[in-house]
Amino acid sequence: MGRLENKVAVVTGGASGIGEKIVDLFSEEGAMVIAADINDVGLEKANQKNNVTGIKLDVSSDQDWEALVAEADMRFGKIDILINNAGISSEKPFKDINLDDWQKMLAINGYGPFAGIKHVAPYMAKSKKGSIVNISSYTALIGQGFNQYSASKGAVRAFSKAATTTFGRSGVRVNALFPGVIEKPMTQSLSESKEILNQLVQATPLQRLGKPEDIAQAALFLASDESSYITGAELVIDGGFAAQ
Ligand code: NAD
Repeated sequence: MGRLENKVAVVTGGASGIGEKIVDLFSEEGAMVIAADINDVGLEKANQKNNVTGIKLDVSSDQDWEALVAEADMRFGKIDILINNAGISSEKPFKDINLDDWQKMLAINGYGPFAGIKHVAPYMAKSKKGSIVNISSYTALIGQGFNQYSASKGAVRAFSKAATTTFGRSGVRVNALFPGVIEKPMTQSLSESKEILNQLVQATPLQRLGKPEDIAQAALFLASDESSYITGAELVIDGGFAAQ
């Protein structure tokens, strides 16, 4: 029996990278998974997988979230798990960053997971049960990234705690993950520079970069009933980088 048998999971950004790995692991563990993404090609691929439904969703759109909850309700009658994983990054140097860059980043990385909780947590609360996992970043914890990306991930950290206290009494748990540098595809351009890659590995106590499955395994534990008394937790998955 799988660790997520009979559960319905929504994974945003489920068409590629870490999100795709989470979708695959959750379906292997018996969940019915909705991979929600803006990437049409990735969604087509998701639709070919067993127990996976690809649904188009822009996380920053309230309308899209309303449609997703309605679709999940029609197909499955419930949502047990929400993984707020979708996100964008930026390589711009701080002197070139402007208000538009901030607004775009905060709309997707900040409002996106907030909107997910806003729409899905009250729906979960009807069955007095649910697990939400927000993907933040190690840049929310230490002095890395003087930019709108770390700010957006700091926002995720802050409202994860607030959501814990807002929805705990309705039976909905909210936890956050803080990945370090994970190989591919968001870090693809970075990975192309062998020198930077080596420096990062050398600077990491466990002497390697993270893999999408490292994050997926942690998401699985927090999504499953094995963590039924855990809410408001912050789990850093970075090989010890932020502990230094
Ligand atoms: P990725 O680019 O491979 O995947 C992101 C997915 O989100 C894509 O499928 C993309 O289409 C989707 N997406 C983008 N904007 C969207 C929107 N508006 N609505 C719906 N879907 C949207 O990235 P990844 O490396 O797998 O990162 C996943 C999450 O992990 C992100 O939140 C990222 O910030 C976080 N993270 C990644 C790393 C890393 O090193 N890769 C480190 C720390 C945190």
